[in-house]
Amino acid sequence: DEDLALLGGEFDDGSGEGVGVPLPVLAVVGRPNVGKSTLVNRIIGRREAVVEDKPGVTRDRVSYPAEWGGRRFMLVDTGGWEVDVAGIEARVAEQAEVAISLADAVMFVVDATVGPTATDEQVVKLLRKSGKPVVLCANKVDGPRAEADASELWSLGLGEPHPVSALHGRGTGDLLDAAMRKLPTKTEHGVAVPNGPRRVALVGRPNVGKSSLLNKVAGSNRVVVDPTAGTTRDPVDELIQLKGKDWVFVDTAGIRRRVHQTQGADFYASLRTQAAIEKAEVAVVLLDASEKLTEQDTRVISQVIDSGRSVVIAYNKWDLMDEDRRPFLEREIEKDLVQVQWAPRVNISAATGWHTDRLVPALERSLESWDTRISTGRLNSFMGELVAANPHPLRGGKQPRILFATQASTRPPRFVIFATGFLEAGYRRFIERRLRETFGFEGSPISISVRVRE
Ligand code: GDP
Ligand code: GDP
Repeated sequence: DEDLALLGGEFDDGSGEGVGVPLPVLAVVGRPNVGKSTLVNRIIGRREAVVEDKPGVTRDRVSYPAEWGGRRFMLVDTGGWEVDVAGIEARVAEQAEVAISLADAVMFVVDATVGPTATDEQVVKLLRKSGKPVVLCANKVDGPRAEADASELWSLGLGEPHPVSALHGRGTGDLLDAAMRKLPTKTEHGVAVPNGPRRVALVGRPNVGKSSLLNKVAGSNRVVVDPTAGTTRDPVDELIQLKGKDWVFVDTAGIRRRVHQTQGADFYASLRTQAAIEKAEVAVVLLDASEKLTEQDTRVISQVIDSGRSVVIAYNKWDLMDEDRRPFLEREIEKDLVQVQWAPRVNISAATGWHTDRLVPALERSLESWDTRISTGRLNSFMGELVAANPHPLRGGKQPRILFATQASTRPPRFVIFATGFLEAGYRRFIERRLRETFGFEGSPISISVRVRE
């Protein structure tokens, strides 16, 4: 079988069953060198070598699918998040905070041979504040003699420490059993439940106006939720009523808190962006109309697309737009935004509020595309016509035949084509173009994978 162009950032294991079903999220946090990566590798069955060959700053994804006792969940691995060694302790808390905000439950790893440190205590404070369920892992308990070290961790006040040797696998089963008892079956972090408020992330590089836009749209529209209603929503998210409907703006705490310019701030900004995107169904990517598009801008756009979320492009600070710049801007848009030509674009001013009312219709359009399902019948008659008029080019006397196509999932729409041979990238792009021409999908990424059947 040949799977191509499948998008990352899935909310399930990608096995095809239950595609689109949001899975609960378990985050593994702790100081550097306590054994997080070793533990994560053991849980997801990744090769040991990854620990030695630590990924640097660039992480393509934040969470990984895992399974224990017949339950599937997403595991957030912070083990590779360290940027550099200098000043690392100072950043542990920040890192833990991001991970906790992503999670439905937290696995807190402490090195039992070292005992609780001041940094551990700091993380404990964050865990308490979050109110999220925690399972305490006392790692590096390689043998029965070290069990005493583990019991010292009762002092953290997080309940029972589970003695584990991530390296040898000792105790990991019991640890995971405990984690499964704590992990809610329903996630607050996957995609919204049907009929629930839609989840929006405001993303973009620093100073594009995210915070200004949030203040503008929130204004007096913030919904204060009755705490007795049992709404367990992440406090970093905000419920905002727009055009008579509730919307959840995710990770607004991260937007409101100005990121201090420490070394590695870029890295955490990017991590936060990724976290917000993964919690949202649609992302508004803010760009600064008064400035040239930067590499950071296009990186944010790629993050959204790669995560399979729907997207709206908002050119902010339009009030600063010099009319002389307009032709240049149009050219930039054509050239630099080619990867999201299909996204709705709004020109706004967060400062004055100009055209910010156009945001909601754009969000609705993108979400509708993201939810779209094309029936198998319609899809195959479309494919039939397309293939009849434009057959796959002949290569070395061979020509793959398309047998059948189906839409495997929505959110975003994913298509699977069964063919008798490999389909060239150019031909797949052609199919995508035609799919968009025919069915729209404005504002939603789509993916096409090919399975070869003889
Ligand atoms: P991280 O920085 O928290 O992700 O920690 P790593 O997983 O990279 O582990 C740091 C070091 O501790 C590595 O040398 C591991 O081999 C070692 N280590 C991890 N788990 C254990 C364990 O259970 N027992 C012992 N003895 N060493 C461990
Ligand atoms: P963030 O870092 O993305 O949250 O950006 P902020 O919302 O903090 O905005 C950064 C700066 O741009 C602030 O000085 C804002 O007042 C300014 N700003 C934001 N939106 C606009 C806009 O639409 N027009 C103008 N002229 N300035 C804006």
